[in-house]
Amino acid sequence: METAKLHNQVISIHRYNTVIIGAGAAGMNCGVHLYEFMSDKGVGDAQQRIAVVTGGLRLGASRMSGSDKQTYYKMGTSPSVSDSAQDFAKSLTAAGCCHRDTALAEAIGSLREFYHLIQAGVPFPHDGAGSYIGYKTDHDPYERATSAGPKTSRFMSECLQKQLERYGVPIFDHMEVARLITCGDGEDRRIAAVVAIDKNMLARDTYGINVFYCANLVLAAGGPGELYETSVYPKGQLGIHGIAFKAGLAGENLTESQFGLASTKFRWNVSGTYMQAIPRIFSTGADGGDEREFLADFFPTMAKMATNIFLKGYQWPFDPQRIENLQSSLIDVLVFNETQKGRRIFMDFRNNPVPCRGMEDFDINKLEPEAYEYLKKTGAFQPTPIERLEHMNPPAIDIYKENGIDLYSEPLEIAVCAQHNNGGFAVDKWWQSNIKRTFVIGEMAGTHGVKRPGGSALNAGQTGGLRAAEFIVNACGAELPDYSAGQAEIERQLGDFVIALDAYADLSGLDPQKVIADIQHRMTASAGHVRRPDDARSALREALELYRNIEERGFKLQKPREIVTAIQAEHLALTSLAYLKAVVTLLEQGGGSRGSHLVLAQDGMEIHPDVKDKTTGEVLRFKPENETLRNSILRLEYDSEAPDLFRCRNVELRKAPSQDKAFEPAWRDFREGKIYDG
Ligand SMILES: Cc1cc2nc3c(=O)[nH]c(=O)nc-3n(C[C@H](O)[C@H](O)[C@H](O)COP(=O)(O)OP(=O)(O)OC[C@H]3O[C@@H](n4cnc5c(N)ncnc54)[C@H](O)[C@@H]3O)c2cc1C
Repeated sequence: METAKLHNQVISIHRYNTVIIGAGAAGMNCGVHLYEFMSDKGVGDAQQRIAVVTGGLRLGASRMSGSDKQTYYKMGTSPSVSDSAQDFAKSLTAAGCCHRDTALAEAIGSLREFYHLIQAGVPFPHDGAGSYIGYKTDHDPYERATSAGPKTSRFMSECLQKQLERYGVPIFDHMEVARLITCGDGEDRRIAAVVAIDKNMLARDTYGINVFYCANLVLAAGGPGELYETSVYPKGQLGIHGIAFKAGLAGENLTESQFGLASTKFRWNVSGTYMQAIPRIFSTGADGGDEREFLADFFPTMAKMATNIFLKGYQWPFDPQRIENLQSSLIDVLVFNETQKGRRIFMDFRNNPVPCRGMEDFDINKLEPEAYEYLKKTGAFQPTPIERLEHMNPPAIDIYKENGIDLYSEPLEIAVCAQHNNGGFAVDKWWQSNIKRTFVIGEMAGTHGVKRPGGSALNAGQTGGLRAAEFIVNACGAELPDYSAGQAEIERQLGDFVIALDAYADLSGLDPQKVIADIQHRMTASAGHVRRPDDARSALREALELYRNIEERGFKLQKPREIVTAIQAEHLALTSLAYLKAVVTLLEQGGGSRGSHLVLAQDGMEIHPDVKDKTTGEVLRFKPENETLRNSILRLEYDSEAPDLFRCRNVELRKAPSQDKAFEPAWRDFREGKIYDG
């Protein structure tokens, strides 16, 4: 490591062939593959050419998030049901807005990566014959899902980390990424370096600036979790979307965030057996008093209500196409409706659903066939939900216990929360972004369409990392970076960065914590699972005004550590602007309700005769999906000259490559490295 002095700051300088930002399941896996591909190519010191840089090894969705049995969706491994990559890719692209070449690559790489995880030590269950057992998840026509329990993604990132450490690849922890430094123009434009603040080094006179030069960059910093007020993303999961937009990366499908029911005191997804145990769901006033069985007002019978609670287990994400005619997503609408009145919602595992207004009592034998047969098959006919949950999945109870919540004795507060973004940054079939030699993987990559089978996020993160690593080593090479021709440009940007940090302390600017809270409130209110065109437009105007305000006034900091919060507030403000611009553009294109969001419209379809606007008292109606938009993807790029700072356009879906070459010519292409062309 070298050091350099810039504007009174001592800067630590590192040089690697490839820098990976993010230490979640995706980033760690890519690091392992990079090391293995480089070593296989004869690079003797591969561990000195790769580095992982992260804001927190213990942070991020992979480490901190999960559900009753967190799902990994892979190609079928059943010994009796056949599956194919093309069928798998069809499931990924079924709801539209999904490039077919990345979907096919996710399918083809699926089993290779699944077995790679098993080799790394992830305890996916198999039977006595060695078959990996599967089950059905949302949007999954086969039983392709599997799980290593509530903490699947945590096991994945931990096992891969151990492997990376065995290989000796350095991991730089506590590094808040603050800037991407670019050089060159047009096709030659590259991201030359990552600037990070070492949070352990921050003091009154030093910002702890580290500069990581890289020939290749892999962005694996996860989703923009802190964008939302009502969120099940783990606290502190910010991502670096604003920073990446500013460096010139293009976003795709940003409108397609996923929302669903989750617990809020301890942020955890309540899908699967939590719902299949059929707990009582009730609301209270803000102070916890005045309990009400609010769902019962909207369902004609107990059997219908209880079956819908059950179905939420594997129809977890809020889905506007599952509202009409008393389907399971009506529950998300009713939960939201109730919270809009200032009330709180709880799941109570001690009691079965409670009837009201002449509804019959809960009777497991009267459930509709889908729920009844499942519970019968799993032997879950115990008298109370907690006993059924204990029978089906005791680790699902333990995880709450570990986090200070006893489901045997207390109800669990829930809300409709933001959980995942199907969109992200545009990548090609090797997960290379629109800037050459910068790759995007994991949740940061926008490879999912409008809907995705539950569990496919983890599969995509692994297969994307494999593809990026293979391409880097075989098509880009393992050399260290040399940006001597662009050094002046790089130093100018580094200097500007230090000046910007100095200015934070001087200006009587904004409070960064308040800025973040404002962004979160606006995003949940106007870009969540319920959207209204006028409201989204005014949210976009406010977001632009906030960003301009930050540019003009900067931040006022009380302590040196707040520099990190200020950096985060600035790029989160740009991220929020990007997301709102995409939301407004899609609404203007007549997008309608799709994926995991509902678009309200006065001339639309009735949600339910008793679901009304809280201010006007009128029945709420929604606009159905505009299916013609399934064949294109909304793409968005930062443009400092554009009125809203972003430009949007629709791009066509890419086709899957044809695979009809005979073995010998395909083998020659492989030997000659032609597979990496185009
Ligand atoms: C409650 C919940 C349940 C889920 N269940 C499932 C499921 O069952 N199946 C499924 O497929 N998916 C599920 N997901 C989604 C899935 O967990 C994530 O998409 C996936 O783990 C993301 O992995 P990643 O490696 O891309 O990012 P992450 O695991 O989020 O890692 C991001 C990394 O980047 C670092 N980082 C972030 N911001 C910065 C910054 N500003 N500076 C420096 N470093 C930074 C973080 O510290 C971390 O190391 C779930 C998500 C949640 C929230």
